Amino acid sequence: MTCPTPIAFADAVDYWAGELTSSEADRIEDHVFGCNECAGELASCEALTRGIAAVARGGRLHTVVTDAILNRLAADGVRIRMFTLEGDGIVPCAVWAGDDLVVGRIRADFAGVDAVTIVTRLASGDEIGRLADVAVRPGQREILNAFSAAHLRTLPATRVQVSVTAAGDGGERTLAEYTLEHGGAFERPSGIQ
Ligand SMILES: [Zn+2]
Repeated sequence: MTCPTPIAFADAVDYWAGELTSSEADRIEDHVFGCNECAGELASCEALTRGIAAVARGGRLHTVVTDAILNRLAADGVRIRMFTLEGDGIVPCAVWAGDDLVVGRIRADFAGVDAVTIVTRLASGDEIGRLADVAVRPGQREILNAFSAAHLRTLPATRVQVSVTAAGDGGERTLAEYTLEHGGAFERPSGIQ
């Protein structure tokens, strides 16, 4: 039997991450109580989201996350280093031994935009990450771009460019650009978190 009103995958992720309002969460709980199919979906979604921790440590993760997901990952013992990308100026960054996940907290004016593309490039021009069609909700002011620290540890010291673009009339337009000065990978943890 196929559920006529299946729970959307995005809602299942938000439910697991604790990002739904209580009435939205109640609606999902009421539904899965009577629907085996969606109960199974919800369970596999939780397993998938928990799998992010293992994937991050494996060095393959590059994705957009939310604060709620980061809180859950931190609670599961994932060590997270955060850098804020906002306005002009060069952001110094680096990766330390023991880091699992490095998160760029990208702050920009996303007004009137419902999806963006985020491209991360080294000074050499090599792309180290491209996330297309990242959904932006009305009123959203930041996007959290997460990289596996294991992957970043393989990079040399280099300047890194992050550009955020959106589709507009006549093609892609740039919403924001940021420059990071990546110092490389270090053994000792620094004082900053
Ligand atoms: Zn259902």
